[in-house]
This record gives sequence, C-alpha cells and structure tokens, in this order.
Amino acid sequence: MSKRFLSIGECMVELSQAGAGLLRKGFAGDTLNTAWYARACLSPEWSVDYFTALGDDAMSDEMLAFFNQAQIGTGFIRRIKGKAPGLYMISLKDGERSFSYWRDSSAARLLAADPDRLREAIEACDVIYFSGITLAILSRDHVDTLLAEIRRAKAVGKLVAFDPNIRPRLWSGYDEMHATISEGARASSIVLPSFDDEAAHFGDVSIEATIERYRALGATSVVVKNGADGVTLSFGGTVSFVAAEKVEQVVDTTSAGDSFNGAFLASYLRTNDATQAARAAAKVAARVVSEHGALVAREKLGLEAL
Ligand code: ADP
Repeated sequence: MSKRFLSIGECMVELSQAGAGLLRKGFAGDTLNTAWYARACLSPEWSVDYFTALGDDAMSDEMLAFFNQAQIGTGFIRRIKGKAPGLYMISLKDGERSFSYWRDSSAARLLAADPDRLREAIEACDVIYFSGITLAILSRDHVDTLLAEIRRAKAVGKLVAFDPNIRPRLWSGYDEMHATISEGARASSIVLPSFDDEAAHFGDVSIEATIERYRALGATSVVVKNGADGVTLSFGGTVSFVAAEKVEQVVDTTSAGDSFNGAFLASYLRTNDATQAARAAAKVAARVVSEHGALVAREKLGLEAL
C-alpha cells in the first residue's frame, strides 16, 4: 500500500560564494533538507510531499521545478500572487561562514493562511514532519491553525515528528519561543532536538534533562542528537545510546541534523526499531558532513550498505 510523508516549512533560495565575486544559487531550508533525505532513504512505495507557500515569480517556478526533479511532491503547495521565496547568502571570511537572511516577507510565512489546504494535505498523509523554524515564521493565528491540524493528526494515530531547531533571532522574544516550541513538542509523537541548542537556549544541564522535559510535555519518544557524541533515544520508556560514525574529515556540518532526521524516520518507518534507525541515520549523517552543501546526492549516501 502506498504511504505518504509530509514535511511542512520554508525552503529558501541559497546564494553561496563561487569565487571571483560570483555567487552560486541553490535551494535549502531545514524541513526541505529533511524531505530530501527522507526521499532518498524511503522505499519507492512512499511518496514524500513538501507543504509550503510560494509566490508567482520566476524563482518560485524554479524552486517548484527543483522539488519535482528531486521527486518531492508539490501538489499541496499554494502559490500567492505578488510574493516570492525567502533568500539567504553565505559569506566566507577567513574560512568562517556567516549568514545574511532576507525572509521577513517570504511567501512561506503564509503557509498556514489557507486552513482547508493544510487540512487536506495533513489528512492525505501518514507521517507529518515540521520544526521550530516552521513555527517561528508564522503569525500567532497561523501557529494555532497549524498546531490544531497537527494535533488532529496525532489524535488519529499518525506519526508526528518535530525538530525544535531553536533559532532565537527568528522569534520576537524568549518567552514566545519557549512557549511555542513547547506547544509544538506537545502536539508531536517523536521530538528530535539537538542537545547543544537545548542546553544553550532552554538551560538543560544534561541529555537526560532534555529527554525529561520533552516527555513531560507529552512527546512519546525523544531522540537527542549530540553531534560527534552520538544520540540518546527514549522510546517506550527505554533509554538507549547510539554512537556517531567516525568521520575522517568533517567538510561541512550544514544539515547534519536535518539529514539525520530524514534518514532516522525513513528507517524507523520501515523497521519500527529506533536503535537500528539511529544507526542507519548516523551513517547517512556521517556522509553528509563529509561533503559540501546541505543536499548531498542519494548516490553519495552509502544507502546500499544500510
Ligand atoms: P544539528 O545539525 O541539528 O546540530 P548534530 O550536530 O547533533 O545536529 O548532528 C546530527 C547528527 O549528525 C549526529 O547525531 C551525528 O550522527 C552526525 N554528526 C554530526 N557531526 C558529526 C561529526 N563530527 N562526526 C560524525 N558524525 C557527526
């Protein structure tokens, strides 16, 4: 039977340095990255859809064509007249990367403005994935609309996965960020936080504290990522640890967590075994940090060895 995975959020135009003052254009965004890796790792009986809003400009057309080429479904994506996608630029100075963003009026900020479209998409899919960034870009009313639909999905037994992906500068204040991310976690079945973010922004003193906090909110399962120090899983009340893979040379850690999430969910959906899924995801994420860019081609992920 065919099944459907839905990722909800914002994909942006990415401009990176191509040398001699030239810029290279790409497309990326946390939830799109996870959709990309879920697509790479799920079997063909699964389809993967992206839910966002785009504009009616040429850049939105190109982004849509890019999703289609990546075999990421675009059928639920709304086009909004007069809008355009958000954009970010990566600058390099003495080997250090920094990011500038132009996303305040992006089309994706209105992704939950059409509740019927949102409900149609969520009802049509079996697994729903979203992040703290998805919530951060929405107005309070639209957060309510999105979370109401996500709660409905969880209530009927769909798998709802959430990465808090804490980005303080996307939020107007700490209290709003803390409260809304907690609501997102409460609406989910699997929460996939990164420990360094949770410690820095929510004051968790240990990985156990992160697990406890999300479990207390109502997340059934928690997967705490901790970079090269592996992941700690809490599934069905059992806590286990899976080490990261050894990486010869870390080239670019962009989308390490996003790729881990996509690969983890794909493997978990196939095996129903969280530890096995974390091992497979650690292998995929290790390949991703060994290559440049957020979206590493399927052929380079070593999937045949999983
Ligand atoms: P995020 O990008 O969300 O901060 P992490 O840094 O925790 O996420 O990385 C996610 C996963 O990527 C880790 O659980 C691990 O499997 C893999 N990973 C990240 N950095 C390394 C590294 N230096 N060596 C090996 N694996 C890594």
